[in-house]
Amino acid sequence: MMSNITVCARFRPLSAKERKDSCDSICISSIDSESFIFKDEKDECTYSFDKVFYEESKQADVYEFLALPIVKDAVKGVNGTIITYGQTGAGKTYSVEGPSILECDVQKKGLLPRVVDGLFECIKSADESTKYTIKLSMVEIYMEKVRDLLDLTKDNIQIKENKEQEILLSGVTEITISDPEGALQSLSTEMNVGSSRSHCIYILTVQLESNTDKRVKTGKVILVDLAGSEKVEKTGAEGKVLEESKTINKSLSALGNVINALTCGPSTRSSHIPFRDSKLTRILQDALGGNSRTALLCCCSPSASNASETLSTIRFGMRAKHIKASPLVSRREDKHAKKHGDISPTKDESCDRIL
Ligand code: ADP
Ligand code: MG
Repeated sequence: MMSNITVCARFRPLSAKERKDSCDSICISSIDSESFIFKDEKDECTYSFDKVFYEESKQADVYEFLALPIVKDAVKGVNGTIITYGQTGAGKTYSVEGPSILECDVQKKGLLPRVVDGLFECIKSADESTKYTIKLSMVEIYMEKVRDLLDLTKDNIQIKENKEQEILLSGVTEITISDPEGALQSLSTEMNVGSSRSHCIYILTVQLESNTDKRVKTGKVILVDLAGSEKVEKTGAEGKVLEESKTINKSLSALGNVINALTCGPSTRSSHIPFRDSKLTRILQDALGGNSRTALLCCCSPSASNASETLSTIRFGMRAKHIKASPLVSRREDKHAKKHGDISPTKDESCDRIL
Protein backbone atom coordinates (compact mmCIF):
# COMPACT_ATOMS: atom_id res chain seq x y z
CA MET A 1 0.00 0.00 0.00
CA MET A 2 1.30 3.43 -0.90
CA SER A 3 1.62 5.99 1.85
CA ASN A 4 -0.48 9.04 1.12
CA ILE A 5 1.69 11.39 3.14
CA THR A 6 4.54 13.28 1.57
CA VAL A 7 7.06 14.56 4.10
CA CYS A 8 9.58 17.23 3.17
CA ALA A 9 12.12 19.28 5.08
CA ARG A 10 12.90 22.88 4.26
CA PHE A 11 15.90 24.83 5.55
CA ARG A 12 15.68 28.59 5.26
CA PRO A 13 18.77 30.81 4.91
CA LEU A 14 20.52 31.89 8.13
CA SER A 15 18.95 35.01 9.63
CA ALA A 16 21.07 38.07 10.46
CA LYS A 17 20.77 37.22 14.16
CA GLU A 18 21.91 33.64 13.63
CA ARG A 19 24.89 34.81 11.62
CA LYS A 20 25.85 36.97 14.56
CA ASP A 21 25.08 34.44 17.35
CA SER A 22 26.54 31.35 15.78
CA CYS A 23 29.21 32.90 13.55
CA ASP A 24 27.60 31.19 10.54
CA SER A 25 27.94 27.77 12.11
CA ILE A 26 25.30 25.44 10.66
CA CYS A 27 23.97 22.10 11.85
CA ILE A 28 23.10 20.49 8.51
CA SER A 29 24.92 19.61 5.35
CA SER A 30 23.31 18.49 2.14
CA ILE A 31 23.85 15.02 0.68
CA ASP A 32 21.31 15.26 -2.12
CA SER A 33 17.74 16.39 -2.73
CA GLU A 34 16.40 13.70 -0.40
CA SER A 35 19.01 13.37 2.35
CA PHE A 36 21.12 15.51 4.62
CA ILE A 37 23.43 15.14 7.58
CA PHE A 38 22.43 16.68 10.88
CA LYS A 39 25.22 17.42 13.31
CA ASP A 40 25.27 18.72 16.89
CA GLU A 41 27.73 18.40 19.78
CA LYS A 42 26.50 14.89 20.54
CA ASP A 43 25.78 13.29 17.27
CA GLU A 44 25.94 13.15 13.52
CA CYS A 45 23.16 11.44 11.66
CA THR A 46 21.75 11.11 8.15
CA TYR A 47 18.06 11.75 7.55
CA SER A 48 16.02 11.12 4.42
CA PHE A 49 12.75 12.69 3.38
CA ASP A 50 10.64 12.58 0.24
CA LYS A 51 12.36 15.84 -0.64
CA VAL A 52 14.70 18.26 1.09
CA PHE A 53 14.58 21.93 0.17
CA TYR A 54 17.73 23.85 0.99
CA GLU A 55 18.14 27.58 1.38
CA GLU A 56 18.45 28.25 -2.34
CA SER A 57 15.24 26.38 -3.14
CA LYS A 58 12.47 28.36 -4.77
CA GLN A 59 8.89 28.79 -3.63
CA ALA A 60 7.85 27.34 -7.02
CA ASP A 61 9.85 24.13 -6.32
CA VAL A 62 8.09 23.64 -3.00
CA TYR A 63 4.70 24.27 -4.61
CA GLU A 64 5.29 21.90 -7.50
CA PHE A 65 6.48 19.01 -5.38
CA LEU A 66 4.21 19.38 -2.39
CA ALA A 67 1.03 21.12 -3.47
CA LEU A 68 0.50 20.70 -7.21
CA PRO A 69 -0.51 17.01 -6.99
CA ILE A 70 -3.01 17.97 -4.28
CA VAL A 71 -4.39 20.83 -6.40
CA LYS A 72 -4.82 18.53 -9.41
CA ASP A 73 -6.69 16.01 -7.25
CA ALA A 74 -8.89 18.65 -5.60
CA VAL A 75 -10.51 19.55 -8.92
CA LYS A 76 -11.40 15.86 -9.29
CA GLY A 77 -13.06 15.81 -5.87
CA VAL A 78 -10.23 14.44 -3.71
CA ASN A 79 -9.26 16.19 -0.47
CA GLY A 80 -5.74 17.27 0.35
CA THR A 81 -3.95 18.82 3.30
CA ILE A 82 -0.68 20.72 3.47
CA ILE A 83 0.81 21.25 6.94
CA THR A 84 3.80 23.40 7.86
CA TYR A 85 5.53 22.44 11.11
CA GLY A 86 8.48 23.99 12.94
CA GLN A 87 9.68 26.42 15.58
CA THR A 88 8.73 30.10 15.38
CA GLY A 89 10.92 31.80 12.79
CA ALA A 90 11.62 28.58 10.87
CA GLY A 91 9.82 29.66 7.70
CA LYS A 92 6.27 28.26 7.99
CA THR A 93 4.44 31.48 7.18
CA TYR A 94 7.02 32.36 4.53
CA SER A 95 6.31 29.01 2.89
CA VAL A 96 2.52 29.37 3.14
CA GLU A 97 2.10 33.05 2.31
CA GLY A 98 5.40 34.35 1.03
CA PRO A 99 6.93 37.52 2.49
CA SER A 100 3.38 38.94 2.35
CA ILE A 101 0.19 37.61 0.84
CA LEU A 102 0.09 40.40 -1.77
CA GLU A 103 3.78 39.86 -2.60
CA CYS A 104 4.60 41.58 -5.88
CA ASP A 105 7.70 39.49 -6.61
CA VAL A 106 6.06 36.52 -8.35
CA GLN A 107 8.99 34.24 -7.47
CA LYS A 108 8.44 34.76 -3.73
CA LYS A 109 4.74 33.97 -3.70
CA GLY A 110 3.95 31.27 -1.15
CA LEU A 111 1.92 28.07 -1.33
CA LEU A 112 -1.46 29.64 -0.60
CA PRO A 113 -1.56 32.13 -3.50
CA ARG A 114 -0.05 29.44 -5.75
CA VAL A 115 -2.73 26.93 -4.73
CA VAL A 116 -5.40 29.51 -5.55
CA ASP A 117 -3.80 30.19 -8.96
CA GLY A 118 -3.37 26.45 -9.54
CA LEU A 119 -7.03 25.67 -8.81
CA PHE A 120 -8.19 28.31 -11.29
CA GLU A 121 -5.68 27.06 -13.87
CA CYS A 122 -6.91 23.47 -13.54
CA ILE A 123 -10.52 24.54 -13.83
CA LYS A 124 -9.79 26.55 -16.97
CA SER A 125 -8.44 23.47 -18.70
CA ALA A 126 -11.04 21.06 -17.30
CA ASP A 127 -13.89 19.62 -19.32
CA GLU A 128 -16.84 21.91 -19.89
CA SER A 129 -19.56 19.57 -18.73
CA THR A 130 -18.73 20.45 -15.12
CA LYS A 131 -19.48 23.70 -13.31
CA TYR A 132 -16.89 24.60 -10.69
CA THR A 133 -17.28 26.84 -7.64
CA ILE A 134 -14.37 27.72 -5.36
CA LYS A 135 -14.97 28.79 -1.79
CA LEU A 136 -12.65 29.99 0.92
CA SER A 137 -12.82 29.73 4.71
CA MET A 138 -10.17 30.64 7.27
CA VAL A 139 -10.03 29.70 10.93
CA GLU A 140 -7.48 29.78 13.69
CA ILE A 141 -7.21 27.56 16.73
CA TYR A 142 -6.16 29.62 19.72
CA MET A 143 -6.21 28.18 23.24
CA GLU A 144 -8.30 25.24 21.96
CA LYS A 145 -10.98 27.54 20.54
CA VAL A 146 -11.74 27.69 16.83
CA ARG A 147 -12.19 31.25 15.60
CA ASP A 148 -13.52 32.29 12.19
CA LEU A 149 -10.94 34.62 10.66
CA LEU A 150 -13.47 35.88 8.11
CA ASP A 151 -15.91 36.87 10.88
CA LEU A 152 -14.17 37.47 14.20
CA THR A 153 -17.48 37.54 16.08
CA LYS A 154 -17.64 33.76 15.52
CA ASP A 155 -15.03 32.91 18.09
CA ASN A 156 -16.11 29.45 19.17
CA ILE A 157 -16.85 27.40 16.06
CA GLN A 158 -17.94 23.84 16.82
CA ILE A 159 -16.41 20.85 15.08
CA LYS A 160 -18.92 18.19 14.04
CA GLU A 161 -19.11 15.12 11.90
CA ASN A 162 -21.70 14.09 9.32
CA LYS A 163 -22.92 10.62 8.55
CA GLU A 164 -20.23 10.19 5.90
CA GLN A 165 -17.64 10.73 8.66
CA GLU A 166 -16.68 14.05 7.16
CA ILE A 167 -15.56 16.72 9.60
CA LEU A 168 -17.62 19.92 9.62
CA LEU A 169 -17.07 23.41 10.96
CA SER A 170 -20.48 24.52 12.12
CA GLY A 171 -21.54 27.91 10.76
CA VAL A 172 -18.12 28.95 9.48
CA THR A 173 -18.03 31.81 6.93
CA GLU A 174 -17.38 30.82 3.34
CA ILE A 175 -16.74 33.26 0.56
CA THR A 176 -17.11 32.29 -3.06
CA ILE A 177 -14.10 33.44 -5.05
CA SER A 178 -14.37 34.06 -8.75
CA ASP A 179 -10.75 34.84 -9.57
CA PRO A 180 -7.32 34.58 -7.89
CA GLU A 181 -7.06 38.34 -7.32
CA GLY A 182 -10.36 38.40 -5.43
CA ALA A 183 -9.19 35.55 -3.22
CA LEU A 184 -5.97 37.32 -2.33
CA GLN A 185 -7.82 40.54 -1.50
CA SER A 186 -10.05 38.63 0.92
CA LEU A 187 -7.07 36.91 2.45
CA SER A 188 -4.96 40.04 2.81
CA THR A 189 -7.56 41.92 4.84
CA GLU A 190 -7.67 39.15 7.43
CA MET A 191 -4.14 37.90 7.26
CA ASN A 192 -2.57 39.92 10.04
CA VAL A 193 -5.03 38.42 12.52
CA GLY A 194 -3.17 35.11 12.55
CA SER A 195 -0.21 34.80 14.90
CA SER A 196 2.54 32.30 15.64
CA ARG A 197 0.68 31.47 18.88
CA SER A 198 -2.23 29.94 16.98
CA HIS A 199 -2.71 27.31 14.32
CA CYS A 200 -3.99 28.99 11.18
CA ILE A 201 -6.10 26.90 8.80
CA TYR A 202 -7.09 27.92 5.25
CA ILE A 203 -9.75 25.86 3.54
CA LEU A 204 -10.31 26.05 -0.21
CA THR A 205 -13.31 24.05 -1.34
CA VAL A 206 -13.92 23.16 -4.97
CA GLN A 207 -17.48 22.22 -5.77
CA LEU A 208 -17.95 20.22 -8.95
CA GLU A 209 -21.41 20.12 -10.42
CA SER A 210 -21.87 17.85 -13.37
CA ASN A 211 -24.12 19.30 -16.08
CA THR A 212 -25.14 15.84 -17.21
CA ASP A 213 -26.27 14.13 -14.00
CA LYS A 214 -26.37 17.18 -11.65
CA ARG A 215 -24.34 15.37 -9.04
CA VAL A 216 -22.25 17.60 -6.77
CA LYS A 217 -18.82 16.51 -5.58
CA THR A 218 -16.37 18.49 -3.46
CA GLY A 219 -12.60 18.50 -3.27
CA LYS A 220 -10.77 20.50 -0.65
CA VAL A 221 -7.32 21.84 -0.14
CA ILE A 222 -6.56 22.58 3.50
CA LEU A 223 -3.42 24.57 4.33
CA VAL A 224 -2.25 24.57 7.94
CA ASP A 225 0.28 27.08 9.28
CA LEU A 226 0.92 25.51 12.67
CA ALA A 227 1.83 27.46 15.81
CA GLY A 228 5.53 27.41 16.70
CA SER A 229 6.72 24.02 17.98
CA GLU A 230 9.45 25.35 20.31
CA LYS A 231 9.65 23.99 23.82
CA VAL A 232 8.15 26.05 26.64
CA GLU A 233 11.32 25.94 28.76
CA LYS A 234 13.34 27.52 26.01
CA THR A 235 11.04 30.51 25.62
CA GLY A 236 11.30 31.33 29.35
CA ALA A 237 7.59 32.07 29.24
CA GLU A 238 5.36 33.08 32.15
CA GLY A 239 1.65 33.77 32.71
CA LYS A 240 -0.48 33.96 29.57
CA VAL A 241 2.41 33.17 27.24
CA LEU A 242 3.20 30.08 29.30
CA GLU A 243 -0.43 28.95 29.10
CA GLU A 244 -0.41 29.52 25.35
CA SER A 245 2.78 27.53 24.96
CA LYS A 246 1.44 24.63 26.99
CA THR A 247 -1.74 24.54 24.89
CA ILE A 248 0.27 24.66 21.66
CA ASN A 249 2.62 21.91 22.80
CA LYS A 250 -0.32 19.79 23.85
CA SER A 251 -2.02 20.04 20.47
CA LEU A 252 1.23 19.43 18.59
CA SER A 253 1.87 16.34 20.69
CA ALA A 254 -1.69 15.26 19.99
CA LEU A 255 -0.83 15.60 16.30
CA GLY A 256 2.33 13.56 16.92
CA ASN A 257 0.35 10.91 18.82
CA VAL A 258 -2.21 10.61 16.06
CA ILE A 259 0.61 10.21 13.57
CA ASN A 260 2.21 7.58 15.81
CA ALA A 261 -1.03 5.68 16.20
CA LEU A 262 -1.47 5.69 12.44
CA THR A 263 1.97 4.16 12.00
CA CYS A 264 1.04 1.14 14.10
CA GLY A 265 -0.41 -0.53 11.03
CA PRO A 266 -3.93 -1.38 9.88
CA SER A 267 -4.71 -3.90 12.64
CA THR A 268 -4.46 -1.44 15.52
CA ARG A 269 -5.26 1.63 13.49
CA SER A 270 -9.00 1.65 13.86
CA SER A 271 -9.44 1.59 17.61
CA HIS A 272 -6.67 3.69 19.16
CA ILE A 273 -6.33 6.87 17.22
CA PRO A 274 -6.74 9.82 19.59
CA PHE A 275 -8.17 12.32 17.10
CA ARG A 276 -10.34 13.80 19.83
CA ASP A 277 -7.42 14.88 22.03
CA SER A 278 -7.18 18.30 20.39
CA LYS A 279 -9.15 20.62 18.12
CA LEU A 280 -6.30 20.43 15.63
CA THR A 281 -6.37 16.65 15.26
CA ARG A 282 -10.15 16.64 15.30
CA ILE A 283 -10.28 19.13 12.39
CA LEU A 284 -7.66 17.12 10.51
CA GLN A 285 -9.28 13.76 11.31
CA ASP A 286 -10.46 12.92 7.81
CA ALA A 287 -7.31 14.49 6.36
CA LEU A 288 -4.86 12.32 8.27
CA GLY A 289 -7.02 9.28 8.74
CA GLY A 290 -8.31 8.45 5.34
CA ASN A 291 -10.00 10.17 2.47
CA SER A 292 -7.32 12.75 1.74
CA ARG A 293 -3.77 13.34 0.61
CA THR A 294 -1.40 14.93 3.10
CA ALA A 295 1.85 16.82 2.70
CA LEU A 296 3.97 17.86 5.66
CA LEU A 297 6.62 20.56 5.30
CA CYS A 298 9.06 20.50 8.22
CA CYS A 299 10.50 24.00 8.38
CA CYS A 300 13.90 24.33 10.03
CA SER A 301 16.61 26.79 10.82
CA PRO A 302 20.03 25.60 9.60
CA SER A 303 21.81 27.39 12.43
CA ALA A 304 23.81 25.51 15.07
CA SER A 305 22.22 27.86 17.62
CA ASN A 306 18.82 26.27 16.83
CA ALA A 307 20.07 22.69 16.50
CA SER A 308 17.89 21.18 19.22
CA GLU A 309 14.65 22.62 17.81
CA THR A 310 15.71 21.62 14.29
CA LEU A 311 16.34 18.06 15.49
CA SER A 312 12.95 17.91 17.17
CA THR A 313 11.29 19.08 13.93
CA ILE A 314 13.24 16.51 11.90
CA ARG A 315 12.13 13.77 14.30
CA PHE A 316 8.52 14.86 14.00
CA GLY A 317 8.81 14.55 10.23
CA MET A 318 10.45 11.12 10.45
CA ARG A 319 7.57 9.82 12.55
CA ALA A 320 5.06 11.20 10.08
CA LYS A 321 6.72 9.41 7.19
CA HIS A 322 5.38 6.11 8.45
CA ILE A 323 1.71 7.00 8.01
CA LYS A 324 0.04 4.48 5.80
CA ALA A 325 -3.39 5.28 4.43
CA SER A 326 -4.84 5.21 0.99
CA PRO A 327 -7.05 8.03 -0.24
CA LEU A 328 -10.52 7.30 -1.53
CA VAL A 329 -10.81 3.81 -0.09
CA SER A 330 -11.21 4.72 3.56
CA ARG A 331 -14.95 4.12 3.92
CA ARG A 332 -14.70 0.50 5.02
CA GLU A 333 -12.10 1.32 7.64
CA ASP A 334 -14.18 4.22 8.91
CA LYS A 335 -17.14 1.91 9.49
CA HIS A 336 -14.87 -0.49 11.28
CA ALA A 337 -13.59 2.34 13.45
CA LYS A 338 -17.12 3.36 14.30
CA LYS A 339 -17.94 -0.10 15.57
CA HIS A 340 -15.15 0.34 18.06
CA GLY A 341 -16.58 3.63 19.26
CA ASP A 342 -13.74 5.74 17.93
CA ILE A 343 -15.94 8.00 15.86
CA SER A 344 -18.87 10.00 17.19
CA PRO A 345 -22.51 9.02 16.69
CA THR A 346 -23.63 9.94 13.21
CA LYS A 347 -25.36 13.22 12.74
CA ASP A 348 -26.68 14.87 9.65
CA GLU A 349 -25.08 18.29 9.43
CA SER A 350 -25.69 18.82 5.75
CA CYS A 351 -26.08 22.58 6.19
CA ASP A 352 -22.65 22.82 7.82
CA ARG A 353 -19.35 23.30 6.11
CA ILE A 354 -17.77 20.05 5.23
CA LEU A 355 -14.12 20.09 6.07
P1 ADP B 1 7.47 31.11 11.08
O1 ADP B 1 6.16 31.38 10.38
O2 ADP B 1 7.86 29.69 11.02
O3 ADP B 1 7.46 31.65 12.47
P2 ADP B 1 8.52 32.95 9.12
O4 ADP B 1 7.96 32.30 7.92
O5 ADP B 1 7.81 34.16 9.63
O6 ADP B 1 8.62 31.89 10.31
O7 ADP B 1 10.05 33.23 8.83
C1 ADP B 1 10.89 33.97 9.70
C2 ADP B 1 11.75 34.95 8.87
O8 ADP B 1 12.60 34.23 7.99
C3 ADP B 1 10.92 35.88 8.02
O9 ADP B 1 11.54 37.14 8.01
C4 ADP B 1 10.97 35.25 6.65
O10 ADP B 1 10.82 36.20 5.62
C5 ADP B 1 12.35 34.58 6.63
N1 ADP B 1 12.35 33.37 5.81
C6 ADP B 1 11.78 32.20 6.13
N2 ADP B 1 11.98 31.26 5.19
C7 ADP B 1 12.69 31.86 4.22
C8 ADP B 1 13.23 31.41 2.96
N3 ADP B 1 13.04 30.17 2.51
N4 ADP B 1 13.92 32.31 2.22
C9 ADP B 1 14.10 33.58 2.66
N5 ADP B 1 13.63 34.06 3.84
C10 ADP B 1 12.94 33.22 4.61
MG1 MG C 1 4.43 32.25 11.24
